[in-house]
Amino acid sequence: MSAKPCQLLVHHASGVVSWNDAAPADANSVVIDAGKVVEIGQEADLRAAWNPTQELDAEGGLVVPGLIDAHVHPVFAVGRAEEFDWRAQGVEYLEIAKRGGGILSSVRNVRAASDENLLGKVRSHFRRMRRHGTTACEGKSGYGLSVESELKSLEIMQMAAEAEGMPLYATFLGAHMFPEEHRENPERYLDILCAEMLPAVKEQGIARAADIFIEEGAFNQEQARRYCECAKDLGFALRIHADQFHEIGGTQLAVEMEAECVDHLESLSDAGLEALALSGKTFAGLLPTVPHFLRQKIDAPARKLLQAKVPYFIATDFNPGSSYTPSLPEAAHFARIRLNLTAEEALFGMTLGAARSLGIEAQKGHLGPGADADLLVLDLPDLFHFGYAFGENPVSKIVIGGKVQAKS
Ligand SMILES: [Zn+2]
Repeated sequence: MSAKPCQLLVHHASGVVSWNDAAPADANSVVIDAGKVVEIGQEADLRAAWNPTQELDAEGGLVVPGLIDAHVHPVFAVGRAEEFDWRAQGVEYLEIAKRGGGILSSVRNVRAASDENLLGKVRSHFRRMRRHGTTACEGKSGYGLSVESELKSLEIMQMAAEAEGMPLYATFLGAHMFPEEHRENPERYLDILCAEMLPAVKEQGIARAADIFIEEGAFNQEQARRYCECAKDLGFALRIHADQFHEIGGTQLAVEMEAECVDHLESLSDAGLEALALSGKTFAGLLPTVPHFLRQKIDAPARKLLQAKVPYFIATDFNPGSSYTPSLPEAAHFARIRLNLTAEEALFGMTLGAARSLGIEAQKGHLGPGADADLLVLDLPDLFHFGYAFGENPVSKIVIGGKVQAKS
C-alpha cells in the first residue's frame, strides 16, 4: 500500500498531550493535513502510512495543543509602571485608583491615543502572547468607556488580531468602571450602556460577549442585573468579573444569568461556590497571576471548585494594572504554586477548558482528529514539568492551522 500525501508530520516528540482518548499513550508524532489534525501515533507507523510535504522535528520536546487565553485586556496604549512602583511600596489597588491610577488611567490613555499608535500597541501585545504559546484568545475592550472609544477599541483589536493571525473571540467590556464624566450620575452611564453602547456593538457585529466588573467602587449587583439583561436580550453571551476584592453577589448573578463564566473569585463565598456547583454550566475563570501582582494574600479556592466539578479555565488577565504578563506558561506556574493544581489540570485549563468556555471545543483546545492543527512544542521532558520553571519560556516551536510559525 502506498503512503498518502499529507501537509506536515511533527515527529520525535517526548510525548503528545492531545486530550483525545483514542490517541495511543506512547504517541510521539502528529500527522496534519489541510490545516487539521489527521492522526496521532508512533513515528514509524505514521511514516509507513503518510508521505508528508513538510516535517517538523520536535527534538524530544513535548507536543501540546496551542494555548488559549480566555481572559485578556489587550487594548491599552501605555503601561502603568508608576502604580506598580506605588504598590511595591505598599499602596493598595483601591487606594491607587483614588490617586488617579487604575482602570481610569488606562481610559485616559486609550482615548488620547491615535488609531495608528493603539493598533501598533495591540499588535505588539498579540505578538508577545504568541511567543509564549497563545494561539487563540478572548480579548476585551473596556478602556474606552464611551460609545466612540469602545467601538474604536473593538475595531482596533479586531484589526490587530487579523494582522497578527491571532484567532480572536471579542468581548465588549463597556461596564468595566464608571467613567470620570459619569461618576456623579452612574445611572446615566447605565442608560448609555443599555440604550446606546450595547446596541451599537451588536449592530457592528464586533463582539460575541459582554462583560461587567461587579465590585465595590464599580458596578453593584442591581446595576449588573440590568446590564446583563440588556446584553442577553441583544443576544450577547456573558462573561463576568466578580468576587475579586469583595463578595457582593456577583457569582450568584452570573449563574442566574447563565453567564459563560465568572472570573477572579478570590473572594468567592460558600454560597457562590454552591451556586456554581449547582449550575454546572458557568465556568470559573481562574487568574492566578493577579493576586501575586496585586500582593493579595488570598487566592481563588481552585481545589474546592474542581472538587465540586465546576468547569474552569486558567487565563493571564493580561493588562497593565493587575497582571502585566502575556504568558500562559507563567500563569501555569502560579496555578500550580498558588492554586495547588497539578500540571495536567493547569494545562487542561488553558487548552480544552478555555475552549469549552468559549464554545469552540469542536475546533480548538485539543488535538483530536479534525481539530485545528494549532500545537506547540514545549522544551519539556514530559507533562509533569509544565509550570515547574518560571521566568523562562518553554515554547520552542509553534504550529497554527498546520503552518509552522517563524520565530518572532
Ligand atoms: Zn480582567
